[in-house]
Amino acid sequence: MTDWNKRTNLVHGGIRRSQYGEVAEAIYLTQGFVYETAEAAEERFIEAGDDEFIYARYGNPTVRMFEERFAALEGAEDAFATASGMAAVNATLMSMLKAGDHVVSARALFGSCLYIVEEVLPRFGVEVTLVDGTDLEEWEQAIRSDTSVVFLESISNPTLELIDIASVSRLAHAVDAKVVVDNVFATPIYSRAFELGADVVVYSTTKHVDGQGRCLGGIVLGQREFIRKTLEPYLKHTGGAMSPFNAWVMLKGLETLDLRVRAMSASASRIACALEGDERLSAVIYPHLPSHPQYNLAREVLEEGGTMLSIVAKGGKPAAFKALNALKVFTISNNLGDAKSIVTHPATTTHQRLSEALREELGIDPGLIRISVGLEDTDDLIGDLKSAISAI
Ligand SMILES: *Cc1c(COP(=O)(O)O)cnc(C)c1O
Repeated sequence: MTDWNKRTNLVHGGIRRSQYGEVAEAIYLTQGFVYETAEAAEERFIEAGDDEFIYARYGNPTVRMFEERFAALEGAEDAFATASGMAAVNATLMSMLKAGDHVVSARALFGSCLYIVEEVLPRFGVEVTLVDGTDLEEWEQAIRSDTSVVFLESISNPTLELIDIASVSRLAHAVDAKVVVDNVFATPIYSRAFELGADVVVYSTTKHVDGQGRCLGGIVLGQREFIRKTLEPYLKHTGGAMSPFNAWVMLKGLETLDLRVRAMSASASRIACALEGDERLSAVIYPHLPSHPQYNLAREVLEEGGTMLSIVAKGGKPAAFKALNALKVFTISNNLGDAKSIVTHPATTTHQRLSEALREELGIDPGLIRISVGLEDTDDLIGDLKSAISAI
């Protein structure tokens, strides 16, 4: 780690140059590494040094550059990159937990995260209690003296509810439980998760970090002891490694991450203001709008409102579909954090698997449209949304 600021780390952090002195990071597209002698191989298997690699499932120079750059950005001691965001979430939880442990998790989770905590963990004897993440009393009641892990998404998908990481961490740390934060919606640019008390922070780098819809990736960040002693043995033997090519794409993504996220967030903020109050919408949800139920917390923990907003069309699914089909600049897809603006209808796609009752409990109205704001001209985006909404 260096004392550089974020934007310098995003460009220079973690650089490893070969003997050729290349300017752009090299893609070391190799699975294995050659040892000069049998003794050198033996030595390396006993303990690999910082710049020594054994097999790409364990580590690779391009992947290591990405991990070190990301750790410097987030202010973490160390990091391990994974094949996808879900590989990161799964490895984090599976490496920390054993049969008999107790986990408390927020209920408003990305579908695959919910699958892990609701279906996979209990199969291995881990007890899971789900809570309304915005309700501190529920956290307080659910966290027990034997709770070992607390899991949450800092900003929920797609209703953009914030969890008070500082307060939840205080409750968790009082019983020595570790706090794991899936921080995708906050982005590494606005993240303050470690400062607020998180022990482990996880990202799907498929989202803002790639930011141009190409590669899957994930990363787990935390203290060196956790990354090397708990997470690495699990990951290196179970095969969730990031490919060197994807790591290179992600490294290049980091270089422009700050610029992209800030531009997208400024645009999202303008769009939210432009749509609020439209009579065909029952809600415009954006963390930095004063109408957001947790506006004060959002102002306190998020420097900007972020790149995502949700709108709720009056008239449910038919109205939402009419608007979606009328859009010309926005594309209908389910990724987010992309240069291209994307709209999603969670009730029929990303959250289709949930029961209607759970969707209702999570506030996923059939009229809700999730909007990921990209890098297009903001006026074009506002115009596109306004004309689509007028088609309702
Ligand atoms: C996308 C996403 C994931 C999963 O990431 P993948 O890279 O698709 O595996 C996990 N959590 C959140 C909050 C996400 O948005």
